[in-house]
Amino acid sequence: MKRSEAVTFATSGLDRAAYRRKDATWIIEALAAGAAVLPVWRGKPMVSGSAEMTGSVRLALRPYGHPVLAMASEEPVLLGVDDDGAPIFTADVSDWVPAETDEDQVKAFLDQSVQRHPAESDAETGFAELRAIMTRLSPRDAEIAATARAILTWHSTHGFCARCGAKSTVTEAGWQRDCAACGGRHFPRTDPVVIMLITHGDEVLVGRSPFWPEGMYSLLAGFVEPGETVEAAVRREVLEEAGIVVGRVDYLSSQPWPYPASLMLGCKGVALSQDITVDPEELEDARWISRDEMLVVHAGQHPQIAPARKGAIAHFLIENWLSDQLD
Ligand SMILES: [Zn+2]
Repeated sequence: MKRSEAVTFATSGLDRAAYRRKDATWIIEALAAGAAVLPVWRGKPMVSGSAEMTGSVRLALRPYGHPVLAMASEEPVLLGVDDDGAPIFTADVSDWVPAETDEDQVKAFLDQSVQRHPAESDAETGFAELRAIMTRLSPRDAEIAATARAILTWHSTHGFCARCGAKSTVTEAGWQRDCAACGGRHFPRTDPVVIMLITHGDEVLVGRSPFWPEGMYSLLAGFVEPGETVEAAVRREVLEEAGIVVGRVDYLSSQPWPYPASLMLGCKGVALSQDITVDPEELEDARWISRDEMLVVHAGQHPQIAPARKGAIAHFLIENWLSDQLD
C-alpha cells in the first residue's frame, strides 16, 4: 500500500538512539544539562494548545529538573534524539495528585478532561488524552507521544519480575527491566492485533462492540494468538465474530496503538461467504455496507451509523478503500 505510512502514529523517522541506551555517562550528562522530558500523567502527555485543547496541539517538553517532573516514579526513559541531536526523554508523573479530578471523566471512553499542573503557569498547558488530540499533533510529536505512552504503561504494570516476583529495576535507559534476584531480563511488550477490511464485491464488513459510543461501527479486529500467522488470525477472527469465511488476505499498513501496547496490523481480505452470524460475546452487531452508503457514513452524515474514529487505522483503511488507494 503506497500510502501506508501516512497513518496517525506512523514513524516520523525519530532516531531512537538505541546505541545510547547503555551509555550511562552520556545519559547522566544529558539529564544534568537539562535534556527535554515529556511528562506523562496516567497515560496522558502534557501538551500545549488552546485552553480547550482544540486546534493544533504540541507536546509540552520540560527540562530535566523542572518542578512538574518532581513526582516522577522512576528515571526518565530515553525516547531518542531529535533531528538537531537533542535527546528526548519521557517520565511518568502519575503519582502527582491534581487538586480536582473527575474520575468518571478520566475513565470515560474518551476522556475529554485536562489536568493542569500548578507548576505550569500557562493556562493552555495540561495533561490531555492522546486519542482526543492525536490527529492534531505533528507526526513527530505523535510518534513521541505514542512511544512514551506505550513504554511508560509497560513500566507501570511490570514493576515485578514475571519469573520470581521480586521487584525489578529499570536498565537500558528504560528499554529493559532486570531482576537482581533471579537474573531475569524483561523487555517491553507489543501485542499484535489484526484489523481487517473484508470486502464482498462492493460491500465492506463492519461491526460494533457493545462498549462503543452509540451507533459507531468499525472494521473487525482481534489479537494474534501464539503460533498463528497474520493471515490465519484474520480468517479466524472474522469467522469467530461474524461467521464469514475469508479467502485471500493481504497486508496493508500498520499502526502503533498504545492502548495499552498494541500494534495494529491493517489487512484486507476477500469474503467467500456473505451470511453473517454474530458472536454476541464479541459483537453487538455486524453488517455489510455498500461503498455508496459508506461514503455517507464516512462523511458523518448517516442517520444511524457513526464512522470509525479519525486517526484510528480503521478510519484510514476505509478512507483509502473509498478512494481506491489500497494498492
Ligand atoms: Zn526474578
